Amino acid sequence: MSIEIRNINKFYGSAQALFDVSLSVRKGEFVTLLGPSGSGKTTLLKIIAGFEPVSSGSITMGGADVTALPPEKRNFGLVFQGYALFPHMSVYDNIAYPLKVRRLSRGEIDARVEAMLDLVQLGRFSNRRPSELSGGQQQRVALARALVFKPDLLLLDEPMSALDKKLRIDLQEELRDIHRTLGTTFINVTHDQEEAMHMSDRIAVMNHGRISQYDTSFNLYRRPNSRFVADFIGKSNIFSGAISRQGEDSVFRSEQIAFPLVERLSAQDDAMVMIRPEDASIETAPPSDRRIHLPARVQHSTYSGDRVFYTLALEGGGSFIVYGRARAGIHADGEPVYATFLAEDCVILGGAG
Ligand code: ADP
Ligand code: MG
Repeated sequence: MSIEIRNINKFYGSAQALFDVSLSVRKGEFVTLLGPSGSGKTTLLKIIAGFEPVSSGSITMGGADVTALPPEKRNFGLVFQGYALFPHMSVYDNIAYPLKVRRLSRGEIDARVEAMLDLVQLGRFSNRRPSELSGGQQQRVALARALVFKPDLLLLDEPMSALDKKLRIDLQEELRDIHRTLGTTFINVTHDQEEAMHMSDRIAVMNHGRISQYDTSFNLYRRPNSRFVADFIGKSNIFSGAISRQGEDSVFRSEQIAFPLVERLSAQDDAMVMIRPEDASIETAPPSDRRIHLPARVQHSTYSGDRVFYTLALEGGGSFIVYGRARAGIHADGEPVYATFLAEDCVILGGAG
């Protein structure tokens, strides 16, 4: 089911939690709302579900306006952090519950519960109580219960945040597979950027009640539209400076660096340039090619086997992070080095974001 959220504002008393939020979700899409705690993710999800009224704005689902409809008139399944399973019921009965409420026949209930147990790989556990399952298994029961009545939309609010890292990664893959199998529209909420990037077709990055950028993982990482998104998605080095025109060229200039831009942009007093640490390298001598090179000293390093993560103190001021390989040893703290990178790998973030 497609969803159109248009110009939503939400007040709790006099405090505004959402500011003019608009979001389009295609039928069958997996969309994640990603942002720090308090950015408005749960509020937006509750509004989609109908648990919270909007202060202004509208929502349509499958083309129909649902803004004024109560939750039970919007056809969605819901999974959240606390599994909220019925503790006195078996796995089977937990999953069957939404079908019993809807008064399906015994035969139909059996067939659908069996299919869901297969989908979440819990067939052998159908007679157990929730307390006899691990956290990951309980969350899969909650998922099966949310999907068994074939909703048009599945809403997930931080469904993995109570699980340890290994289980989270397993469940992420499983969720992605289930999404592919069923083709249901999924809207997921998380503050975990890796989780968002692994699973989603598109991600809405939220900050202080606004959507900062709504895009694919690739574009959020390679073409962030603001300092907030660049910092929130992955690690980055950001230089603040200005863009000026020199004849046909646009030139970026900050305290540390100056270089002509690939794109032709108009003059700007408050431009920012981002370079990802994996696009830079660390050298002991200035490179002989056209790479930008900034003299620096190693401030500290952490070694993780596959790479070394360096924090450099730039001679021009500020720090710079870069990944190195450790084949020939690790640069010592205090060692003079150069942070080097290509102008083409720099991304302009635009005005103050
Ligand atoms: P997130 O899920 O991103 O952590 P929330 O949507 O829960 O963020 O909260 C967004 C903002 O709205 C926060 O400032 C929070 O304190 C506030 N808020 C959330 N729910 C309520 C409520 N029921 N009453 C008053 N303020 C609320
Ligand atoms: Mg929340």
